[in-house]
Amino acid sequence: MKRMASYDLIIVGGGIGGSALAQIMAGAGRSVLLLEQSEVYEDRVRGEWIAPWGVDEVKRVGLYDLLMSAGGHHLTRHVSYDEDVAPAEAEARTLPLGIFRPGVAGPLCLGHPRHCQTLFDAAVAAGAVGLRGVSVTEAAGGAHPRVVYEHGGRTHEATARLLVGADGRTSTVREAAGIVLHQDKPHHWFAGLLVEGAEGWADDMQAIGTEGDFGFLAFPQGEGRVRVYGGYALEEARRFTGVDGPRRFLDAFALRCSPENRHLVAGSPAGPLFSYINADAWTDEPFAEGVVLVGDAAGWNDPIVGLGLSITYRDVRIVSEILKAGDDWSTAAFAPYAEERAERMRRLRFAASITAALDMEFGEEARARRHSYHARAAEDPSLRMHTLAVMAGPEAAPPEGFTEAHRARVLQG
Ligand SMILES: Cc1cc2nc3c(=O)[nH]c(=O)nc-3n(C[C@H](O)[C@H](O)[C@H](O)COP(=O)(O)OP(=O)(O)OC[C@H]3O[C@@H](n4cnc5c(N)ncnc54)[C@H](O)[C@@H]3O)c2cc1C
Repeated sequence: MKRMASYDLIIVGGGIGGSALAQIMAGAGRSVLLLEQSEVYEDRVRGEWIAPWGVDEVKRVGLYDLLMSAGGHHLTRHVSYDEDVAPAEAEARTLPLGIFRPGVAGPLCLGHPRHCQTLFDAAVAAGAVGLRGVSVTEAAGGAHPRVVYEHGGRTHEATARLLVGADGRTSTVREAAGIVLHQDKPHHWFAGLLVEGAEGWADDMQAIGTEGDFGFLAFPQGEGRVRVYGGYALEEARRFTGVDGPRRFLDAFALRCSPENRHLVAGSPAGPLFSYINADAWTDEPFAEGVVLVGDAAGWNDPIVGLGLSITYRDVRIVSEILKAGDDWSTAAFAPYAEERAERMRRLRFAASITAALDMEFGEEARARRHSYHARAAEDPSLRMHTLAVMAGPEAAPPEGFTEAHRARVLQG
């Protein structure tokens, strides 16, 4: 027999978006059911770097101190290496990362499983009913939102005023609500791995670089751990497959342009190596009657610029502001969220596509284009407008940073 219960909000997915929203809304006195399918948060190679503008979003929803007490730490320096730039020259152009948002020391790093668990615990502590090991078998919006789920060997049914889809890229709630997901063509492969034993890598320094047929990114997590990513061409699907794939992946970081990478090569894999094909995805309206989507469920940005967490925290802030403003939770109440998100994602998609074309294309033509860009951008900072959007926020760069004219100026050979 089904057990029935009723809530203000049912949130499907207890990752970053779902747990953060549950914590905020339970803290605001609403009854919240938070359903998470995993029993344990595992490393699935997801976001562990929050951009400075995302840190501001974390602060605005009141979760900054919590993340810092869970082990969050700031990165304060960035180096861009490249095969056509001497390492000393690249390091002489180190970018301080505290310049993008007032009062934000730089990007914030925190391991993804710990980040999720911290938020889930905080949601439960705030009064949400949080369940793990849940299998949602039915979800429906409309005038009477409801879910049916299996938990603890029993079937349960719950109803709510609003159903929130925070269940990631393959969102069940999005599908149930009939919200269409649009996707760009994949641009490149993007693999990630957590490395341990890389104590030689400075704890506060992030770096990127491209050499030959490989582009890398490195974000230290503290205590000798560094989250590393590598990008490579779509034709090389099997490049790092097999049991020795993680080791071969780390060996690919032995690049002449970035001598510091020796510390990464000297480290060892501390988690799985997962590869994704990078592209953007979006929804026209991240809501329907009785349903709203947050985070990846609502569409995502190409991870090449690492903004999924920042986007998710902004979603959570805007949706929670609407929910806390009063009792109008109709589709009309979410229209401003859809409008803001559409322009935000358009801009970030643009910034990501330029970054991917610059850093994750290989061969002589791409190399010459990168070389030309680095030389010209050193003289003309306006060529970096799209990177301002990544670090300081999509509205921090002027509108012309998101035009074909800007793309042509950046990518000219
Ligand atoms: C390779 C890679 C690197 C990335 N790097 C970065 C980065 O450096 N910085 C950054 O900001 N972003 C990064 N991202 C993106 C970032 O990880 C995501 O945007 C972010 O995790 C989205 O959070 P979310 O809560 O929406 O979804 P998710 O993190 O996907 O969480 C969804 C949750 O829902 C649960 N779930 C799914 N289906 C169900 C169901 N039916 N019932 C119940 N529970 C369910 C899942 O178990 C999960 O816990 C990266 C992404 C990738 C792929």
